[in-house]
Amino acid sequence: MSVIEEVKQRVDIVDIVSQYTSLTKSGRILRGLCPFHSEKTPSFFVYPEQQNWHCFGACGTGGDVFSFVMKKEGIDFGEALRLLGERAGVSIPSRPEPGAGRDEKERLYQTNEAAARYFHELILNSPAAEKAKDYVANRGLSLETVTGFQLGFSLNSWDALKEYLEERGYNENELLSGGLVTEKETGGSYDRFRNRLMFPIHDTKGHIIGFGARALDDSLPKYLNSPQTAVFDKSGSLYGIDLAAPAIRDQDMAVIVEGFMDAITAHQCGFNNVVASMGTAVTEKQINTLKRLTRNLVLALDADAAGEEAMLRSVGYENTLGAEVRVIVLPEGKDPDSVIKEDARTWQDLLGKALPIMDYTFNMITASLDLSTARDKSLAVDRLLPIIAEMKDIVRQGHYLEKLSRLVNVTERNLENVLRQIRPTLARPWVKAARQRVPEQALRPVYSSPLEEYCLALLLQHPELKKCSQEPLPEYFECTENREIFTAWQQSGDILSLKGGLDTTIQEHLDSIMDRMKKKDLEDNRIEPRYTDCVLRLRERFLRSLEVKRAAVLALEAELGGSAAELAKLEEQGIDISTQLGEVFIQKSRGAGIKGGKK
Ligand SMILES: [Zn+2]
Repeated sequence: MSVIEEVKQRVDIVDIVSQYTSLTKSGRILRGLCPFHSEKTPSFFVYPEQQNWHCFGACGTGGDVFSFVMKKEGIDFGEALRLLGERAGVSIPSRPEPGAGRDEKERLYQTNEAAARYFHELILNSPAAEKAKDYVANRGLSLETVTGFQLGFSLNSWDALKEYLEERGYNENELLSGGLVTEKETGGSYDRFRNRLMFPIHDTKGHIIGFGARALDDSLPKYLNSPQTAVFDKSGSLYGIDLAAPAIRDQDMAVIVEGFMDAITAHQCGFNNVVASMGTAVTEKQINTLKRLTRNLVLALDADAAGEEAMLRSVGYENTLGAEVRVIVLPEGKDPDSVIKEDARTWQDLLGKALPIMDYTFNMITASLDLSTARDKSLAVDRLLPIIAEMKDIVRQGHYLEKLSRLVNVTERNLENVLRQIRPTLARPWVKAARQRVPEQALRPVYSSPLEEYCLALLLQHPELKKCSQEPLPEYFECTENREIFTAWQQSGDILSLKGGLDTTIQEHLDSIMDRMKKKDLEDNRIEPRYTDCVLRLRERFLRSLEVKRAAVLALEAELGGSAAELAKLEEQGIDISTQLGEVFIQKSRGAGIKGGKK
């Protein structure tokens, strides 16, 4: 998780805004006097579920927690991030000296690569590696596989690796920061990995970022990984990604398994699009990495972990990915390694039968219910509706609302009403449950928007678009990082000054957008229509979301008996939004006409 995401997870917009203006809770939203303009009747609203705010009064503007603090304190994004980070107990790296971080990372990759070569050489040639060789042979791995994955062996020694690397010019500090040795309390250090089968872990670019290591005796833990380092973050890494990336791209699908051996066996049997999460729960960060290669993910889940995992994470995964995640459930007591070894066709069959994760969740929740009874119908709605409510993709949300409606024989319209009214009370216990189970995981869905990023990429690669009459507003960008990049772009002359103006915490995000776009070559004559289409879609999404917020406020005002003038003003704003949406539609259809005409 990036520090920005971490701060978003830990800070609640309600707490922050409450320090500047007093808020009263009314249903799903909170209202108060606008802290940005002076008023007598409150027209400032906070939406805790979306973690954003909007002023329907003189300001007519809104945003997330970062934009609130920036506006209120008159500070830039970097300062707001550090202020909120301090409050949330998240330490934010300060701007490093240019180039310093890069050199340190390069050196860590080199150190890891030297260590991997050493471990690999040992498993191939050292008599001391008998046990490691036996283990690998028992698991049915071929020499080709051992070489392909550069598996290795660490000697049962406190300083063999350390001595080897120091002789080759690596110093103790470098070994410490790479996590290859562990510091002694009495000073000095010793080899972290001893008498273990070594699995080098790569990033997508092929650098070795860390190691997984399996004990070859009774030592605990059975699996030991590199600690967090400047280049290794287990929660964001995927084992086998370097070897799997081409196949994932070609087949436009990635399969996520849990263990090192599962991934290795899959590759040996020709299933090259498989990566391992190296832990039970798949993280948002891992999904983000895969997202650059494909939008089609299949999770291979253990029979026992499957239910919880699918239910707790489904919507988060899909919101991050902007696509459907499917799930296969392995036969009880089996892991992918054993399934594939027994019969590769079983694995192929399972993949073919993979269920969309929401359908799987439906099955799982309704399996124990008798849907002919009123009580169980209501239980099914109680448990499924909050999950449906979290969906960001309205088409998918509609699909599952319809499915639920058929299942319990209640009209979609009625379910929609329930969805609107009881969403917060139902959703909260669910979120709380997720929080208790997986404290280190993302609690709120991490918003990422392919549309926003595509728009930015076009702008960054085609400076001539700056002259284009269509321009998005900063508010169109829901994702904080994207909005920051957009505002920096507005103020900058070229990509270098843009980079200079960005906070360091956002540079990585910018790099990833640029990286992805390099792969897409667009014909020059299609850039402008694509860009215009992008802006229109962003505008449409923005207006729709504004309309939802306005409708919620109007409903609330009507309920609380707001003044006729207030109500009329909100109605008018609604008409205005509809008019603007109408314009978007007209422009979109004109765009389609032009494109069609060119053919
Ligand atoms: Zn205001």
